[in-house]
Amino acid sequence: MFEKPPGLLVVISSPSGGGKTTICRSLLQGHSEYLYSVSLTTRPRRPSEVTGKDYIFVSEKEFRDRVARGGLAEWAKVYGYLYGTPKGRIEKAIKERRVILLDIDVQGAMRIREKYHQSVLIFIFPPSLQVLEARLRGRFTEKEETIERRLSIARKEMGYWERYDYVVINEDVKETIASVEAIIKAEVSRVERLKRG
Ligand code: 5GP
Repeated sequence: MFEKPPGLLVVISSPSGGGKTTICRSLLQGHSEYLYSVSLTTRPRRPSEVTGKDYIFVSEKEFRDRVARGGLAEWAKVYGYLYGTPKGRIEKAIKERRVILLDIDVQGAMRIREKYHQSVLIFIFPPSLQVLEARLRGRFTEKEETIERRLSIARKEMGYWERYDYVVINEDVKETIASVEAIIKAEVSRVERLKRG
């Protein structure tokens, strides 16, 4: 009872452009004790991204090899590319009883929920589809057809919200971060979790 609370896997999903990258970054800056689950992906690196920090960029063959070796906790095809969560860091978080953030899509979130009772699922909603579109266009990193495809997938993804534990509407990024922090704080203290260990 007086030991550190068990590890917590905080899954944060939102449609592309929903603001989750900013949210995760800010949470990690404010909580150096949190870990971040750096995913493997076959998507090409964006200029602002750092290998090993944002993603581990790999070829399709490397990705498939990793899957075959059982190295991924979950993986999915998103927007035509493969994305996966390496098992190693998740296991480290559980062993060291730490909070780990996973910025993954709805398919991955469902897999993590099935596999790890230590998980809590948070869905971040954009204030509206119009705002989402404006944010995607504001990035200037994607082609028009990619934006259209992401928007149509976003509409589908948003239908998954009922399968999450919490929904936060991202009207104001500071408030959203405060809400996610409050959820994490409460979840860490849940008696059900403490009992399960
Ligand atoms: P982006 O290419 O915009 O960084 O991410 C595209 C989508 O892939 C986002 O919804 C993101 O949450 C998701 N994603 C990133 N890493 C993973 C992962 O390891 N597994 C799954 N299932 N989805 C991921």
